[in-house]
Formats: sequence, C-alpha cells, structure tokens
Amino acid sequence: LDPTELAVESSLVTDFIAEYYRTVEQRPVQPHVTPGFLTSQLPSAAPFASESVESILQDVYDKILPGLVQWQSPNFHAYYPATCSNAGLLGEMLCSGLNVVGFTWSASPAAAELEQVVVDWMGKMMGLPQGLLFSGGGGGVLQGSTCEAVVCTLAAARDRALERVGDDMFNKLVVYCSDQTHFTLKKGSKLVGIRPANVKAIKTTKNNEYGLCPTDLRDLVASDVKAGFIPIYLCGTIGTTAFGAVDPIRELGKVAREFNMWFHVDAAYAGSAFICPEFRHYMDGVELADSFSTNPHKWLLSNMDCCVLWLKFPKRVIKSLAAGGNFLEGGSETMVDYKDWQIALSRRFRAIKLWMVIKRYGYKNLISHIRSDVSMAKRFEELLLSDRRFEVVFPRKFSLVCFKLDVMKNVPEVVDEDDGELSHDSKLTRELMASVNVTGKAFLTGVRLGRIFFIRCAIGSTLTEDRHIQDLWKLIQEKAHKICIMI
Ligand code: PLP
Repeated sequence: LDPTELAVESSLVTDFIAEYYRTVEQRPVQPHVTPGFLTSQLPSAAPFASESVESILQDVYDKILPGLVQWQSPNFHAYYPATCSNAGLLGEMLCSGLNVVGFTWSASPAAAELEQVVVDWMGKMMGLPQGLLFSGGGGGVLQGSTCEAVVCTLAAARDRALERVGDDMFNKLVVYCSDQTHFTLKKGSKLVGIRPANVKAIKTTKNNEYGLCPTDLRDLVASDVKAGFIPIYLCGTIGTTAFGAVDPIRELGKVAREFNMWFHVDAAYAGSAFICPEFRHYMDGVELADSFSTNPHKWLLSNMDCCVLWLKFPKRVIKSLAAGGNFLEGGSETMVDYKDWQIALSRRFRAIKLWMVIKRYGYKNLISHIRSDVSMAKRFEELLLSDRRFEVVFPRKFSLVCFKLDVMKNVPEVVDEDDGELSHDSKLTRELMASVNVTGKAFLTGVRLGRIFFIRCAIGSTLTEDRHIQDLWKLIQEKAHKICIMI
C-alpha cells in the first residue's frame, strides 16, 4: 500500500462516486440487459499487467453501471431500501481503511469497545429495554445480516433446550413463526439442524392484519407439547417483508414465556423507526424478548452492511458459539471477545461506520430522516386513496405502501385462500407494475398472496424527495389509465 498513491487514487474514486450520485436519477432504475451481457465484454482471464485506476473506472462506467439495478436512485422503491449517506460511506472507508480484525478484545481493544458503546447508543436511541443493553446486563453485536443474527440465536436456543431435555430429543425441537416471517428463519433453522417439518409457520389473515395470532400460536404449541415436542424458539416480526405488518409482541412474548421458548424480535427494516418515539408502541412488550435485531443498512443511512443484534443474556449465545484455540485465549467479564457472538472468527470494523453515522448526523437529524420518509409514504398513500381505481391493501405503518388496482368493484375477492388463479384486479395490477418498471423511471416490486397480487412501494431511498413521489404517482396513473380503458 502506497499512501501517496492512495491519496490521489481515492480522490478519483470519490469523485466518481459523487458524480454517480449526481446523475443516478437519470439512469433507468432497472437495467435493460440480457444474461451474459457483461461476461461477453470482459476478458476470460485476469490481466497480467496492472491497469490505471482511471481505466478501471472507465470500465465501471461503461460496462458495469449500465448492468446494475440503481438501488440508490431516488426512483427505487423495490424490496426495502439500502440507504446510504456521506457518513455511511466515509465510515465504510474508515472500516476498510483501518482494516483491523477485532475478533477478540485483545486483537483490537478499541474496535471491541467502540462496538459496545455504539450498540448501547443505538439501543438507547431506539428506546430498547435496559435489559438488552450492556449497561443493563445484556449486550449487542454488529453482524452483516439478520440471517446471521438469527442463526446465532437459534443455536443458543437449541443448546439451551438440549441441555434441559437431552441430545436424543433433537428431532423434537420446534421453532415457531408466522407465514409472513422472513425465510431467514427457515434457513437458519435448517442450518442449526432443526427438522424442516418442525419449523411451524402459523397462517396469518387479513382480519389480523397479517400479524401472528397469539391464540393460534398458543393452541399449536400446547398441542405440540402434548404430542411430545419441545418448543424452543419463537420469532416475532415488526415490519414484515411483504406488508410491513407488526406482530403483537407482548402477547407473543407471554406465550414464549409460558412455554420456555427463546423469543426473538426481527425488526430488520422497521427497527430504525423506533428512534422516533411515535413508533415505539409497535414494540410494546419488547422487554419480554430474549433478542432483538435490526438492520441500520436498510433504513438508517449506514451503507451495507450493518445488522445490530441485542441479547438479554449474551452468555447463552457465547456458550453455544465460543470456540477456543490457544492463540485466542484472553476473554474475561470486561473484555468482549466478539468472535463468540457471531458465526465467523474474522469480522469487519462496522462499529466505526455506525458511530460515524450517529455522530455526523446526530440523533436529531436521524429522526428527521425517518419522519421525512414516513411523511412521503403517507402522502403517496393519500394519493392512492383519493383515486377510486386503487385500493390500499394494508394500513401503512411505516414507509411501505401496499396497493393494487380495484376496478372490478362488483367482484368479491378471495383473499386468504392459498391456491387458485389470480383475481382479475390482481392480474391487472401485475400488468400495471410491469408497465411502470419497463419505463426505467421507477422500480416497484410486488407480492403474490393467495389469489391477490399487490404492489409494494417502499419509500426510503436516500435521494427520494417529494417531487419523485409526485412523478411516480403521475406515471402510475398514466399506466393505470391505459390498462383501465382496455377493459
Ligand atoms: N427480516 C425481515 C423482516 C426482512 O425484511 C429481511 C429482508 O428484507 C430480512 C429479515 C433479511 O435480512 P438480511 O438480508 O439482513 O438477512
């Protein structure tokens, strides 16, 4: 590494990125490319000689950018956002620039302690219960994704249960969730050896606003226990992927307590909203949770990747994940060895990024950022409600708006049915989404649920302003008009 060269070349890259952000709005949000478009343009073997940064950036510009989905476009409303910011990017630069590998406290004391400080800051900003914070006897860790966080908690829950019932009961361990829980739970359960048939997803309904019904859960767990199964883990979600729905945390927590299950709360997207007090009622009862996770890389300006996992009893996870090796000895009550709080040994210095984001913007501006996205979503929802051709399929809770066409007014829709042909309105809705996306002026994704198909408009890309929402609405109306006059 040559520091003099670094100073010059890094400014070429930051200029390139700045220009990208200045112009990303003009790029089609979804690329118009066919499979193999990039491989056919690149040499099949690595270059023998070195190339200049300028020529590499030229390749990025000419060949790579046109094949990307422009996640940072203000017109990107698909999936959930991956928010970015100057501070997030600068924090990433520090993370990889310093390139420390803080697997134990001794391997990089400041990295471990900064992480402890910043996860407590974040927990306090969100109003999490003291019990999940280091300052209250719990503690948190930064990981790359919710999936990893869930695997760690599942491993701890599995081992805690096996200690109680014995290893020969492994096949009887059961994990509970709803049919709206992210697939990460099924994947994680598989990874820790839970039988796929023992991951039980309770069906949600429109009547329950797609939240996990505590009575249904209780009945199922009770009958499983009667049949000799051992409930070990319950996942509640605040802000489900499809709708942004919220499970009744307090009631679920009570069932988890009653049956001695680990209770995890997944707030991957919506968790960031809890820095604003007006959203905290959605996590009422969170003190009953054993663990809670959220992804600041989704909605809190903390460029990929950053997931915070808080644990009420970190020792339970450490007990499952601690792996020795003499050269790693040295952990103690006061020295956190984060290798025992995650899957891998090596780890990125994510704490410096989250710390940078929080310090650079301050709690106050982060609150404004969330409120601004939510108010744009609210305005978009009002526009939909003002037009008879549309139906908002789920009452918006955060900044995700779910809607569909509702032009066949006299045809009742079968919503909570699993199979069958899509309703006519749903087919038109799918057509509407495709016709919007093909313009490249916006990118929306949709969900099929039983016989309905609806569009999800996730508002929260960092560069999105009111004018983009107005333009999106005009585009949707124009396409809807074309579709509706054809029926
Ligand atoms: N949980 C929820 C509710 C999500 O919406 C998502 C992704 O959108 C995930 C988990 C998966 O997160 P990750 O990609 O960090 O594993």
